[in-house]
Amino acid sequence: MSNADWATKDFYKVLGVGKDASADDIKKAYRKLARANHPDSNPGDTAKHDRFKEVAEAYDVIGDPAKRKQYDEVRSMPSGFGGGFGGGGAGGFGGFDLSDLLRDRAGGGAGAGGIGDMFGDIFGGGRRQQTRSRATKGADVESNATISFTDALEGVTISLRLSSEAACPTCNGTGGKPGTKPHVCVECEGAGYVVGSVGGAFSMNETCPVCHGRQLVYDESCPTCHGTGRGTSARTIQARIPAGVKDGQRIRLRGKGAPGENGGPAGDLFVTVKVSPHRLFGRRDDNLTLDVPVGFDELALGAEIKVPTLGGGPVTLRIPPGTPSGRTFRVRGKGARRADGTNGDLLATVQVQVPATLDAGAREAVENYRAAMAGRPLRAGLFEDA
Ligand code: ZN
Ligand code: ZN
Repeated sequence: MSNADWATKDFYKVLGVGKDASADDIKKAYRKLARANHPDSNPGDTAKHDRFKEVAEAYDVIGDPAKRKQYDEVRSMPSGFGGGFGGGGAGGFGGFDLSDLLRDRAGGGAGAGGIGDMFGDIFGGGRRQQTRSRATKGADVESNATISFTDALEGVTISLRLSSEAACPTCNGTGGKPGTKPHVCVECEGAGYVVGSVGGAFSMNETCPVCHGRQLVYDESCPTCHGTGRGTSARTIQARIPAGVKDGQRIRLRGKGAPGENGGPAGDLFVTVKVSPHRLFGRRDDNLTLDVPVGFDELALGAEIKVPTLGGGPVTLRIPPGTPSGRTFRVRGKGARRADGTNGDLLATVQVQVPATLDAGAREAVENYRAAMAGRPLRAGLFEDA
């Protein structure tokens, strides 16, 4: 609707009511005409479709107290402005700016910018449409995943089932019982919003309370969503967990979140990864840890022992004579893969295992050892300062 519409169109006449009609009378007249000319009841009758639009347009203005007041003001302007109104045609007022005029008429009270903005809003039907269909980025989504120790080291592609708020699958978001026919919302005349008054001459658009912005209403609500149109949808996506992820780490997967609206980009998916422990190996940063059982004799005399690596063949550890229990040996390059492609180390810690039982030969050998070591002051240091 352009400014010129207000000056040239008699919305009271369109609705067949007098200029002094009450708000209630206007509403009644509108509802009657809207029903009679409704496109649903008059398929193919373009004359009635046009009449329906005309009626809706009129009610949009004089059905709203704030807009009606402004409309009446425009209509009651001095006739000297009339030439501009009539001759303007498509161009409107021939250089005459209605909003400027109204800004002046509003006086100092309200603030000129506010009035101008308000008119921009009321007149700007097309612009409002644009705002509502603006491209928006999809929401970020949080998820959890549990992966194996080995997968955490090497990276893995996992399937994630994500549920998110989406259109109700039964009614496809319309809120109506499937198979029933919608009709244009009478409250908002299919606009999806209503202009609510916020005191004084200012007004703001609000989502229509009857159709909730969906523009259409159904006589019977969808049994699944009870008319809200909302539901949850589950989708399965493939997510690549990079090599080297740690237990409890939160990974961001760009563009794997909720889809954007109106061509906007998708949101991101955040996956908090839980890593299952390994039976043998532990993890310390980029290094793997391993406890290696050894005998007392192996540490005392020295030995070459084989230890396993993760994802590779065993390696030989050379234990020098006299190695204390609990010493850690570093096997280079046998740890976790780093982001740069190099590997951490394997940290192998030797732990003496004491046999629960000894056979006769072993017992004799150990007894001989004890005899040989008799008198050795192993614990003397504990009592030095006592
Ligand atoms: Zn509505
Ligand atoms: Zn539904």
